[in-house]
Amino acid sequence: MPPATPTPAEKTFSRILKLSGLNGWSAIIIAGLASILAFFMGDLVGLSVGVLIVVSGYMELHGRRLLKKKRDAWGMRWLVRAELLLLTVLAVYAVRGLVSFNADYLRDQAIPDARATLQPLLEVLGVSFDDLLKSFSLTEDNLIPLVRLVTIGLYGTVLLVAVLYQGGMALYYRRKTEGMIEFLYVKAAPQRWERPMPPPPPPSIYKLRPTKSPFNYDSAFSPQSIITKKRDGGALSREEIDSFAQGVCNGRFADYQATALLMAIYWRGLSSQETAWLTDAMMRSGEIMDLSFIRGAKVDKHSTGGVGDKVSLILAPLAATCGLKVPMMSGRGLGHTGGTLDKLEAIPGFRVMLSPPEIRFMLERIGCAMLGQTDKIVPADKKLYALRDVTGTVDCIPLICSSIMSKKLAEGIDALVLDVKFGRGAFMKSKAQAIELARAMVDIGKASGKSVRALITGMDQPLGRAAGHTTEVIEAIECLKGRGPADLMEVTYALTAHMLILGGVAKTESEARQKMNDAISSGLALARFRDMCAAQGGNPEVIDDYTRLPTARQIIEITAPANAVGFISEVDALKCGEAIMELGGGRTVVTDKVDFAVGLSNLVKIGEPVAPGTRLCTLHFNDEARGARAEAILRDAIKFSATAPTLEPLVQDLIQ
Ligand code: URA
Repeated sequence: MPPATPTPAEKTFSRILKLSGLNGWSAIIIAGLASILAFFMGDLVGLSVGVLIVVSGYMELHGRRLLKKKRDAWGMRWLVRAELLLLTVLAVYAVRGLVSFNADYLRDQAIPDARATLQPLLEVLGVSFDDLLKSFSLTEDNLIPLVRLVTIGLYGTVLLVAVLYQGGMALYYRRKTEGMIEFLYVKAAPQRWERPMPPPPPPSIYKLRPTKSPFNYDSAFSPQSIITKKRDGGALSREEIDSFAQGVCNGRFADYQATALLMAIYWRGLSSQETAWLTDAMMRSGEIMDLSFIRGAKVDKHSTGGVGDKVSLILAPLAATCGLKVPMMSGRGLGHTGGTLDKLEAIPGFRVMLSPPEIRFMLERIGCAMLGQTDKIVPADKKLYALRDVTGTVDCIPLICSSIMSKKLAEGIDALVLDVKFGRGAFMKSKAQAIELARAMVDIGKASGKSVRALITGMDQPLGRAAGHTTEVIEAIECLKGRGPADLMEVTYALTAHMLILGGVAKTESEARQKMNDAISSGLALARFRDMCAAQGGNPEVIDDYTRLPTARQIIEITAPANAVGFISEVDALKCGEAIMELGGGRTVVTDKVDFAVGLSNLVKIGEPVAPGTRLCTLHFNDEARGARAEAILRDAIKFSATAPTLEPLVQDLIQ
């Protein structure tokens, strides 16, 4: 769809706006004076209307201020809100006036009131109210229809002006917002499950075999037959796998059947061919974004999940500042690990469900967008991800591989860097498993024509010093301010450097590091985060004032016991994740609400010296009993040793 061009009506509104000189100040001054008058006259309705109009004037000024600072969409949204508030206030006022001025009211109250008010004035002129009526051949009774007519005319005009002018302005601003955002072309799947198969990818063990005719799922495969086949260790056909992915989206696979199959896959596994088919089927469960018309290399990163892993929040604006386009589609918390989307939602107002025009706006203007899957993009993963989270089927290589790669392939990116974690707090417990998962994902990505690299990184202890939601957002912002903990910056820099190289923005790792250092020290990466936050509806003021984030009722320090001497030898990431779950920072059923305020900060790191009374971490909680249980888990998670432990490098391998 072409970018929106203003219609003649919009052009007219634009001219009226300029000519009338109406803006926030005139609303504030006129309505402010009217409110003062209403206050002295004891007119409460008038006072409330006046105050609300002043508020709308302020909102309009705020929007214009933001527009000046180039926060386009955010500023425009405030203008739309100001117009809608004004429309509502004036419309309610007018409708109330129209309804309340009935004949009884006029006879019993309005006319006697008018008589009482006018009489003293008329006396000065030497006429009485009745004389005045007589001179116009009127009586009080036939005055009623006349006053009604005038009243209807007055309030009707207010209503009309409110709806036409204020409503028109709201629409005009809304459309201008969209005009800025323009339109993202999303390739709609012609017929979800009857799309022609993609052309065969380059030779690989993951080669996707093209099928000749559309599948006929409904008659061919029952969920039971697919479940029992996998339960008994059989290999699923491509049609059965497609039927599963389709079934979870259209309801033919009930949740309990889908989880039964997930559990069967968990125990029996999937061959590399089955995994490739599942990835493809999940990717095709929805629409596939085509970002080819957006200039610049579109590069994303995805982590297999860990505790305290807030890398995405730092990396997206950082990579965008260095010149990449980052359409980052992330997930929610999974098992004991936190999710980027949940963390972002700790920022008041932050929206992760973006419309295609918004995604395009974000990529073109800001350079990055942090989004969740919609019902349109990889709906099969959306469903399966949520089910896996609460059914013990997360740590399974083919399921992780298909979940991540289906999302990434549907994003329309050119290149991808994967952070495959292993260790206590990761789903892959050993390095060998992590390499196997990385290899599977890299091969699937390459078979689909993308440049893919995977870093194998350790996750024995949480990344950084914070875990939770609010606490992690604060730590990510601190990183962008140049005050991030060393381990977190190390992983962030390593991943971003590979993104910059794959995207052609840097030739070598040292050039990439130079660019990243400049982006952070100049404050540009932070400014990019601020813009991203504002454009996605989040309150950017949290960046300067952390108290605007959800805050826990209780914040306590956990200190080392009397027998703690020497060094921190262990900070078990899995137990830290479990402590956060205990506090309410995760989900135990799909519908659970996450408590953003709870979590950990100031967490000690392995190798740091410790003595009795040393602070081990700060615990943020809202419920006394849960706080006590989490403290016990944390005390169990942190161990001490007399000698300094040997530290393994965080980034252990590169798979490409
Ligand atoms: N991230 C995902 O998107 N899916 C998984 O299964 C694990 C991590």
